[in-house]
Amino acid sequence: MLVVEAKLKNGSSEQYQRLNEAIKTAQFVRNKCVRYWMDNKGTTRNDLQKLCAVLAKDSTTPWVNKLNSQARQSSADRAWAAIARFYLKCHDSSIKKKGFPKFKKYSRSVEYKITGYKLSDDRKQITFTDGFKAGTFDLWCSQKALVYYSSQQIRRLRVVRRADGYYCQFLIDYERQEKHEFTGSVVGIDLGLKEFYTDSNGNTVENPHFLKKTARRLRKAQRKLSKRFKKGQKQSNNYHKQRQKVAKLHLKVSRQRKDRAIKDALALVQSHDLVVYEALQVSNLVKNHKLAKSISDASWYQFTQWVNYFAKIHKITCIAVPPQFTTIDCSVCGAKVHKTLSTRTHICPDCKTVLDRDFNAAINILKKGLKYLGEYLNGTVGHTGTDPNDWGESDLWIFNRDVEDLSRLVEPVISRSDSGRIPR
Ligand SMILES: [Zn+2]
Repeated sequence: MLVVEAKLKNGSSEQYQRLNEAIKTAQFVRNKCVRYWMDNKGTTRNDLQKLCAVLAKDSTTPWVNKLNSQARQSSADRAWAAIARFYLKCHDSSIKKKGFPKFKKYSRSVEYKITGYKLSDDRKQITFTDGFKAGTFDLWCSQKALVYYSSQQIRRLRVVRRADGYYCQFLIDYERQEKHEFTGSVVGIDLGLKEFYTDSNGNTVENPHFLKKTARRLRKAQRKLSKRFKKGQKQSNNYHKQRQKVAKLHLKVSRQRKDRAIKDALALVQSHDLVVYEALQVSNLVKNHKLAKSISDASWYQFTQWVNYFAKIHKITCIAVPPQFTTIDCSVCGAKVHKTLSTRTHICPDCKTVLDRDFNAAINILKKGLKYLGEYLNGTVGHTGTDPNDWGESDLWIFNRDVEDLSRLVEPVISRSDSGRIPR
């Protein structure tokens, strides 16, 4: 599946207002479904679908009938997804937060399936045809990507409201596949604060610090906003104008982050056949307040998600290893060298290796990943247990199906790691 996003342009303010009403109605249906589930024990997904039809016929809520019937069903499905997620978590005792389904207050999107809208033949315009009669908008889409897909391939359409306007997301039934030449190149990466990541060859990718750059402007805008806030009163137009400005700044940062994550992840996947990274539990790290801002700024999680995505379409392998000991171990002799957060250099008292802290960690991460892959190929995963370092499971995503290629990945590096490393 592929998502293509296009901005909805050149509509009148009334047209956008109608889209907004459709979004609000979708939220209304979803919340009604959650309410129904709370009040009626043993509610099933099917019951919620039936509830949609009842709501549409209800004369006290005439606007529900305006929303396309499939969009109403999608809203019920969304409610059900939240309920199903909750049930799943209830069965898992290791998860503390169960996520009881909540009512939505600030929903930003409505989802259509295949009816309720019409695309023009040249794919440059879209017309919404359901009861809200939002009418025709121009589609502005940077890659002009929509022309390549038939309307049968468009499975769903989501209208999303953002700080700078309304967007359409097309969910397209298409498996993206890229050519990838197997070279046997493997890499471990250590995600960090100083550098965005350091790889096991000693290369670094700098941290962009988008938030820091925009932070000044954001702080100023935020200050203005709180000055305009009136407690316990209806907020003024000026307040809402400023609120929009702040939201746009946040949007800018999140777009820059996403862009950067995509570019870095793609470059990494294109030039390697195996990528190993640390499975960082960002939510735990963010609790450390001194680091919180820069950690969420670095957006490691988003980056690793993109690495996985590109690994799939390039048919390579990636492994997320548990982070224990990767910074402490000496990557040459395996001795434990304890460090504080501020120790930037790894100096081994046993084998006298001197390495950059992150470089040392990246090599350890790669080793851990290769060990895991080796065990996986031998069918011994989970059978070891004698190694005190071996706690926590790795996550393995193998997308290249050639087992021979995989064993070629594991072998050369075992000899390489014996040869030791030249300190930088
Ligand atoms: Zn050592």
